[in-house]
Amino acid sequence: MITSLQKDVQKSPVKMTHRISSLVCFSVAHVSTTYVPLLKTAPPRSFDAQDVLVSAMPQDVAFLTTWSFSSSFLNPYSTTYRTLFFFIRQFYRYQLLFCHIFAILLVSLKRITDQLYTERRFENVSTRERNKKGIITMKNLVILGGGYGGMRILLRLLPNQLPEDIQITLLDRVPYHSLKTEFYALAAGTISDSHVRVTFPEHPRLHVKYGEVTGVDINEKLIHIKDEESIMYDDLVIGLGCEDKYHNVPGAKEFTCSIQSIDNARETNQRLNNLPAGATVSIVGAGLSGVELASELHESRPDLQIKIFDRGNHILSAFPEKLSVYVENWFDKNEIEIINNSNITRVEENVLFNNDQPVQSDVVVWTAGIQPNKVIRDLDVEKDGGGRVVLTTQHNLPNDEHVYVVGDCASLPHAPSAQLAEGQAEQIVQVLLKRWKGEAPPTEFPKIKLKGVLGSLGKKEGFGLVAEHPLTGRVPRMLKSGVLWMYKYHNG
Ligand SMILES: Cc1cc2nc3c(=O)[nH]c(=O)nc-3n(C[C@H](O)[C@H](O)[C@H](O)COP(=O)(O)OP(=O)(O)OC[C@H]3O[C@@H](n4cnc5c(N)ncnc54)[C@H](O)[C@@H]3O)c2cc1C
Repeated sequence: MITSLQKDVQKSPVKMTHRISSLVCFSVAHVSTTYVPLLKTAPPRSFDAQDVLVSAMPQDVAFLTTWSFSSSFLNPYSTTYRTLFFFIRQFYRYQLLFCHIFAILLVSLKRITDQLYTERRFENVSTRERNKKGIITMKNLVILGGGYGGMRILLRLLPNQLPEDIQITLLDRVPYHSLKTEFYALAAGTISDSHVRVTFPEHPRLHVKYGEVTGVDINEKLIHIKDEESIMYDDLVIGLGCEDKYHNVPGAKEFTCSIQSIDNARETNQRLNNLPAGATVSIVGAGLSGVELASELHESRPDLQIKIFDRGNHILSAFPEKLSVYVENWFDKNEIEIINNSNITRVEENVLFNNDQPVQSDVVVWTAGIQPNKVIRDLDVEKDGGGRVVLTTQHNLPNDEHVYVVGDCASLPHAPSAQLAEGQAEQIVQVLLKRWKGEAPPTEFPKIKLKGVLGSLGKKEGFGLVAEHPLTGRVPRMLKSGVLWMYKYHNG
């Protein structure tokens, strides 16, 4: 059934341009493949050489060409013919260059019209309007956050698993995928900003939108974006990651630096690297990110006095004791001060209170806990004790099979990590593909396999837990660099 809505879309000038450019591209491809042997023939040096040209042509073209040569319009002695022949000779001379320029122009034109066509066709048409008119149209999968979870979903669906009637809208506040696992090095100043950025994939049915998501209305199927119009979804994946958790410590939010977002990590970098020689930096929290930040900062600014505060008897309390002791020895050797059994009770400008005792600190960096993104915190759905969203086995909300949550915002049986977000994303893709086909998704999934954790102590040493085996020294550091390289190589 063709409704007025479909006609509007079909009549649109964008679609016309799209069709024309597709036709031109096709024709050029056809002509060039048929006549490439011709182009390889030596260019005719004189009018006599037209026989050579003609003899190299397929029969039908040869006939036309001979006819043209003998017609009055192309009289060999006329100025028109000479001009035309001049251009043909120039074309022969620069044929490769011309072909390249022409091809680039055509491909660009096609990309632009493809994109305009997709946008025009699907963005301004509400799903409800489409459904009311009873037509089968595109569905919009909206992915909030192009982090580890969101990016893995994109990479699995694109380029060729995405059904024809599905388009994707990716929404992120930054125009690239950020490698959050490297933010400690960005903050410390040992790597550049571009090192932690990976471009999002391109696809005619992927629309990437940049903006700050402020809320999700599950009843109306709407995403609210700061200073922009809300957008509709048919299926939604929320992968907005996490933020710092301050455990109600007064002044912690206001007076500490963070490494939980690329923006925060940049600001922290500025604060740390503008410090004068001998200044004191206090890091609150000695989990993986606190430890990596302390060691990397020591490598970047050996002149600074670095203190790391932790609640437990040992740093890295989630790791086997052997690893904690190894890292503690490394810290001792490099004069990074560890303050165990600490309890940060307050933070003020340039002062940290540990068990109510003031510790002068030029910069305090908070790495002492995380909580799901504010958008999730504001969402009225069932959550676990850590504020993460409780999901079904298929990773959707229990009462809404169109809303999925991936990564740090999801309640899963393991501690949040990039690996976990990616493993969960793989399963969400399977569920989506089944549901889009109208089939039942798997009722159970195998446990998400985590390969282990690798941490760095500067650029030369590291530690890790791989297949339950503790590793220390150069090997885990090299493995960490290798994993990062592979990730960027496959996703960049
Ligand atoms: C210093 C550090 C080191 C780490 N090391 C490791 C490690 O070695 N191994 C490991 O497995 N994990 C590690 N992690 C944890 C890992 O980075 C996270 O678990 C992982 O990034 C979670 O992925 P995600 O997809 O849930 O969210 P993220 O990767 O955090 O992505 C969230 C995305 O949402 C966007 N976003 C957030 N809020 C909004 C908004 N309101 N509007 C629009 N866009 C928004 C962000 O820009 C971002 O692109 C580390 C974390 C840190 C901080």
